[in-house]
Amino acid sequence: MSETTLQTARKCPKCNHEGLLISKQPTEIDELTGYVFQCENKVCPWYSTRWVVTADEDDKVPTRDIGHDPKRFPSVPTITERQRQQLLDRLPDDTQ
Ligand SMILES: [Zn+2]
Repeated sequence: MSETTLQTARKCPKCNHEGLLISKQPTEIDELTGYVFQCENKVCPWYSTRWVVTADEDDKVPTRDIGHDPKRFPSVPTITERQRQQLLDRLPDDTQ
């Protein structure tokens, strides 16, 4: 069984370039840290799109098999959609 690590999850699901770390914050689950990454690849359809990754203290991403559907990649089952949105909402809006 292959593991997802933070190193893997920080890559853009669309272009596989390493995302820029925008923010790192604790989650409501003690062992997990939430990371927000942003694609910096100008030719990528996800350019300046952000996604959330949660990882534990060993940088392992606790997620079920996500298969090969990139649209499911940002959905981390250990946090709710509401928590994910809160992570994003806390960010200063510096993209304008
Ligand atoms: Zn990308």
